[in-house]
Parts: sequence; C-alpha cells; structure tokens
Amino acid sequence: MAFNLSLENKVALVTGGSRGIGRAIALEFASRGAAVAVNYNKSPEAAEEVVKKIQEAGGKAAAFQADVSDFKQAEALVKFTIDTFGDLSILVNNAGITRDQLIMMMPESDWDAVINANLKSTFNCSKAAVKHMMRKRTGRIINMASVAGQMGNPGQTNYSASKGGQIAFTKALAREVAARNITVNAIAPGFVDTDILKAMNAETLEAALKMVPLARLGKPEEVAFTAAFLASDGAAYITGQVIGVDGGMAMM
Ligand code: NAP
Repeated sequence: MAFNLSLENKVALVTGGSRGIGRAIALEFASRGAAVAVNYNKSPEAAEEVVKKIQEAGGKAAAFQADVSDFKQAEALVKFTIDTFGDLSILVNNAGITRDQLIMMMPESDWDAVINANLKSTFNCSKAAVKHMMRKRTGRIINMASVAGQMGNPGQTNYSASKGGQIAFTKALAREVAARNITVNAIAPGFVDTDILKAMNAETLEAALKMVPLARLGKPEEVAFTAAFLASDGAAYITGQVIGVDGGMAMM
C-alpha cells in the first residue's frame, strides 16, 4: 500500500495558529488539502493573514478567537470548527506561552498562566474534540510539547512542568482512545525560530545552542512537516509517541 502526505477531505483545528509554529502548521496542512480552523487569542490580524494566504491559494480556512485555557471558550472553538467545516479530523494543541523566572522569583500567577495556557488548554480542546472523534471512530490529536518537558530547563519550572504534563497526557489519552482509531502523539521541538524566543536573552540562547548537535535553530516549517506526517494516513500505526524535532538536543 502506498501512503502519501495528503490531507485532502480532512478538517484541522490548530490552536495558536496565528503565529510561529502554529501558523506554519496551518499553512502546511492547507497546502496538503485540509480545511483549517485557525485559532488565535490576541493576534486577530495575524490570524486573518494566515486565513487570507490559505484562501488565496485556493484552500479553506477560517479564524476564530478563543482563549483555549478557558474550558468554555475551547468548547466553542471546537464547535465553531465542526459547524463551519462539518467535521474535525485533526486537532493540534499548539497554543503556548512562556513566563520564565527562577522559582525563587516566580509569582504564583506566572505558574498558573503557563500551566493553564499550555496544559489545561490541551485537556480543554482534546475533551471537546474527542467527543466528536469517538463518534466518527477516527481522529488525530497532536500536542506541541517541548524538549523542556523531557530534559527540564532552569528558569522554566512552570513551562517544563506544562510540557512534561502534555507528554504524560498524550500517552494516557492515546491508550484511552486507541480502540476508536484515534491516535494521540506529541512533538517535542527544541529551539525554533519564532517570537517565543524573544523572551530569552542572547547569551542564554547562545549557551542553549551549544547543546544542539545540529548547531542551529529549527524552522517552524520543519516542525510543521512533522505534524503533517503525524496527521497523515501514513502515521496510522503511530500513537502515544513523542517525536523530537530538536536538532538532536534530546536523544531519549
Ligand atoms: P509563538 O510564536 O509565541 O506563538 C504562540 C501562539 O500561541 C500564538 O499564535 C498565540 O496566539 C497562541 N496562544 C498563546 N496563548 C493562547 C491562548 N491562551 N489561547 C489561544 N492561543 C494562544 O510561539 P511558538 O514558538 O510558535 O510556539 C508554539 C508552540 O510550540 C507552543 O506550545 C510552544 O511552547 C511550543 N514550542 C516552541 C518552541 C520554540 O523554540 N519556538 C520550542 C518548543 C516548543 P495570539 O498571538 O493570537 O495570542
């Protein structure tokens, strides 16, 4: 049997699809034929630009504002996707933030903000999506974790815990829904060239790059291609896995 990376007739929801890795995933999925719901929180213009780009290339896309850390807003986002495109075949839990600080200085609010935006959002969207996917007896869930969730990063106890939590969530949910032909996988990017790195100072980033065997930052498109593979029919027998896209940083 010959597999390909076509996503023709699939409907994808990409959380945080307005910028960075999520934007690249939305464009990659659309270029392979998927209709894409582009979720954003605070960047409406960026989300509309992604939608416009997809539509101009002949694809289907729509933007929807929702703070995915909020249970009700995540539910509304999933409902919007299904109402707009008639299905939801691929959920990418990509939305994420950092609030870096050594634990001694970290306010409780920064712990809560990161856990809610990165981890609770994954629960919120997956719960709503799984309801639909269980009925359809098919589906793909892809969680955007991080090497920080595998190796830990100083100054990122909140972020590392949220990403480690996403990895454990991935494995538990993969076991729960496998019987319904739903796969759940995580991608663990290393340092990828997006706005999120702007919060890091140049020295820290340079030191971090020394830990990367391929000795460069990753590109959002390189993560997006991996997501497209996991979403494709060719990845039907892969579930509960964490795929590193990190230049060799974490060899687990
Ligand atoms: P980014 O450029 O800062 O983009 C973050 C995206 O998430 C934006 O589209 C943003 O939307 C959205 N977002 C944040 N909070 C949200 C919320 N509460 N509800 C809905 N959307 C929200 O970051 P990125 O580098 O592309 O990161 C994407 C994912 O990859 C994150 O989960 C991040 O942890 C992970 N990751 C990134 C790297 C890296 O080096 N870049 C490495 C490992 C993992 P708005 O702008 O509309 O608010």
